[in-house]
Amino acid sequence: MKAFVDPDTCLGCGVCETIAPNVFKLGSEPYATVLVDSVAPEDEAAVREAMESCPEGAITIEE
Ligand code: SF4
Repeated sequence: MKAFVDPDTCLGCGVCETIAPNVFKLGSEPYATVLVDSVAPEDEAAVREAMESCPEGAITIEE
């Protein structure tokens, strides 16, 4: 699985980082960045939860 954040849509609220800190990070930019090229199998459920929880629908995944 790959995960993506649309920087134009992301609000930088941090929900995704809280749910899946191995994959999403809020750094110096005002939007979340994706830390990994490929999501580890043990993090996939958290990434799906983060996608469903993102208030802006800024997260997409590619299986
Ligand atoms: Fe951005 Fe959505 Fe993550 Fe919030 S949950 S920081 S809006 S990608």
